Order: sequence, then C-alpha cells, then structure tokens
Amino acid sequence: MRRPFGTRLIRSARTESGRTRLCRVLGLAVLCCAGVAAACSAGDEPESQAGAADERPNLILISMDTMRADRLSFYGERDRKTTPVLDKLAAEAAVFRDCIATSTVTGPSHLSMFTGQFAHRHGLVKNGGKVAPKYTLASALLDAGWNTAGFTGGGYLRELFGLNFGFETYRAKGGPLAQFKRTFETSIPHALDWLKSRPKGPFFLFLHGYDPHCPYEATPEGLREFGATASGPFDPAGLCGEEHYLPQLLSGEFDENDSRYLNDLYDALVFSADQSLKPFIYYLRKTGLIDESIIVFTSDHGESLGEHDWIGHGRLWEEQARVPLFIRFPEGRWAGDIDAPVSLVDLMPTLLDALEVPIPGGVQGRSLLLTLSAERDAFEDFGSRMRVVRFDEDEVIRFGSRWKIGFRRVAGEQMEQQLYDLQADPNELTNLIGTSAGGDLFEVLNDRYGAWRAETESDDAEYRILRGRPELDAEEEAELSGLGYGSGETDSE
Ligand SMILES: [Zn+2]
Repeated sequence: MRRPFGTRLIRSARTESGRTRLCRVLGLAVLCCAGVAAACSAGDEPESQAGAADERPNLILISMDTMRADRLSFYGERDRKTTPVLDKLAAEAAVFRDCIATSTVTGPSHLSMFTGQFAHRHGLVKNGGKVAPKYTLASALLDAGWNTAGFTGGGYLRELFGLNFGFETYRAKGGPLAQFKRTFETSIPHALDWLKSRPKGPFFLFLHGYDPHCPYEATPEGLREFGATASGPFDPAGLCGEEHYLPQLLSGEFDENDSRYLNDLYDALVFSADQSLKPFIYYLRKTGLIDESIIVFTSDHGESLGEHDWIGHGRLWEEQARVPLFIRFPEGRWAGDIDAPVSLVDLMPTLLDALEVPIPGGVQGRSLLLTLSAERDAFEDFGSRMRVVRFDEDEVIRFGSRWKIGFRRVAGEQMEQQLYDLQADPNELTNLIGTSAGGDLFEVLNDRYGAWRAETESDDAEYRILRGRPELDAEEEAELSGLGYGSGETDSE
C-alpha cells in the first residue's frame, strides 16, 4: 500500500530544518533560495547560518462573508465577469471546486475554519453563542512565533463571542449600520495600516468583510456594471431580517423580474467587493509579500437568491453550503483546479501542515496538501468522506461529491428526511427519500453517518467549546439587527 504523501513529508521533516522542508514542500525558490542558493541546492541547514533572517511564510486568510461559489467568475460557471481582481489571483492558486462550509451562518462556520472541527463538535450550531477555544489557527500560529492580526466586519465575529482567540490585534468594530460599514472598504485600510507597521517576523492576517451580505449595498459602479435596477416594488434591502423574506416569496409577490433584479444586485455586490480588494492585493504584489505568503480566499457560506423559496442563508441547500476556496502558494505553486471534495474544516490542518506547525488534537479536517501532490490519485478516499453541514437542529451530510442526506425541521417536532443525487439533480429539486431505492440508500448512508458519530462521540464531548451566550447591550443588538438577525438568532445549543 502506498504511503500517504503528507505522512512521508511530516516524518522526514523531523530530520530536517523547517525552512529546508518548506523549500522542498512548497517549492519556495524566492523564500528559500534567494541569497542562500548554495544552502538550498546542497540541502544544508540555512537556519544554522549566523544572522539568517526568519523567512517562514506569512499567512493571509481572506473571508468574503456570504459569497456563493458559483458567482465568482474564476469558477467559470456563468458568463459574467464578476471578479476580475480575484480571477487573477485564482489563476495562480490551487482552486478547490467542491468545497462546502460546515454551517450556513457566520459564527459556526468561521469557528470551523479556525478550529478544524465540525459544528457538532465545537458545539456552536447557530449564531450568538460564546466560545472558549482551547486552540485556534491563530493561537497555534501565535504559539509558534507568528504575529497574528484580524480585521473583520464585526457582527458575530465580535470579541464578545470569542472567535478572536489567538489574535494579538483584532478589530471588529460594531455599531448600527448608519455609523459603520462592515465591508472590506472598512477593514482593508486597517489591515494595510497594520501591515505597514507590523512587528518583525512572520504573520497571520485574517481579513473579513460582509460585502455580499444583507442589506445588499452595492456601489453605483457595481450596479451599473450589471444593470441592477428594480422594476417593481421588490426591495431586498428593505426586507433585510424579515424572516429571510419567506412570506413575500410564498405569497407569490416575487416574480421573474424581481428574481432578475435580485441576481443582478448580488452580482453587483460581488463585483463591488472584488474591486474593494484591489488596493490590498496591489499592496501585496508591490511589496513582494505575495510570494512570501500563503494566501487563502474563502467564505463562510453562500446565499439563496430565491431558490427553494428563500433569500438569505441559514438553510442547508447547496447554494448556501457550497463556498469558494483557493490557496495561493508562493510563486503560484500547485496552481490549478482540484476536484477533491473538501470542507472548511480542512483549512486549519492544511495551513498548519504547510507552515510546519503541529496540528492540535481534536481536529477533524484533513491536510489538503495531500490533494496537491503528484500522488493525488493515492487519495481516492477523499471521495468517500463525510462532510457535515449544520444549522441549529437541521443537518446535512455529503458523501463524496454525489450523495447528500439531510434532516430538516419542517413543523413542530417533525423532521423531514432528505436524499439528493447532486450529480443528476444539482439544484436539489427531487427528494429521493420516497422511492424504494432512495429509501434503501438513505438507510445505508445514515447508518454510516450514525456509526461515525457514535465512534467519535466521546471526543466530541472533550472538545466542545461552547460556553453559553453573552449578554448583548443595545448597541450590539442594533448591529446584529442591521445585518438582518433578530433575537431568535442569539439562541444556541
Ligand atoms: Zn456569514
């Protein structure tokens, strides 16, 4: 049996220096060989040289909140050029075509990015709970010598919810919408200021913006680009927080023109967000940081734009669960498309693995370095793994790229069971649970899931980090209300 690529790397790394390993693993010619070419080519130990600078790569994680994958033009699934800035970066990156989130709301999904745990393990299954992590991506890097800083749009990423754990510098300024924009337009200037005066040594920078999120405020340029003009009274911004617009959809007031407007408006938002990233990416290129850093682009969840009678998120349909993910390694190493089914839980172990920082216990994700090597065929088991997406009591489980089972609360205590064949029915229009073959397959898959959950249950209890919920003051309530969240969202398991 072939030994997994990553295992071999990790084992051999114990006998070589960190930087020598990075030379080989990441192919970092610029980082490793500039000025120390002899050391690289001869396999010497560059760190042993007196005065050698700390050249460990930086990590930059960009999370564009509420960004559904199919609306980014680098995925090539539509003929609209929504993201020219990101397209260029993605062309130099490993682009994961089948990545799903662990939840479809902000707090739980980001917590999975940071901890490598599914929501049922970390315990935050909807927004509003306070968590006390034992570790996060930021804390692991901080302990290993990276400077850590986060610049976010606030909301459920504010300090009172605990997701800032491990960040030395953290900005999540809150406030009512009228006083504070929670988009990249606000977080990027602070991130650039920090970069320009940052402490010496490698850094981890987390950059977040609620750009395509309710209340759908696109720039005039974005609106013009996609001709987003309302043809009737439908106003998604005005409905922000109104039970995610469901009553309007069900009453039939949402017609084709409204749908076109909503989709144009969302594209305009995405375009606006992409344009906002321009000065940040420009700075990385101008300063050379781009090839001294691993750059990740992703989102915490997508957005329904009328599909399944829903506008917004907080449900587990694919348009909400599927998220973009690309990782740009220095010098464009491993650029190209990756079809392996991956999850946001894989982010933390992947990045720690790439930076040669130990992965803590309790992490459920896998290092995606495994999917990037020339030996990627050796990892067919990626295709049969289980990926869980959870919101409150609703849960879906993806088996590879094709099958999806789900449990959805429909009324009172009643849970609807679901089975979708995403290969034949990517829009999830036909629940196969009622067919005899579908019912049988559901049982088989559900048994597999149940066995895995039973096997890992004691670990779930050990790694649970939810600690009740914080009291919110009036200003904090107003901020969340501006993002469309009512008081019901603040409950948590
Ligand atoms: Zn979010």
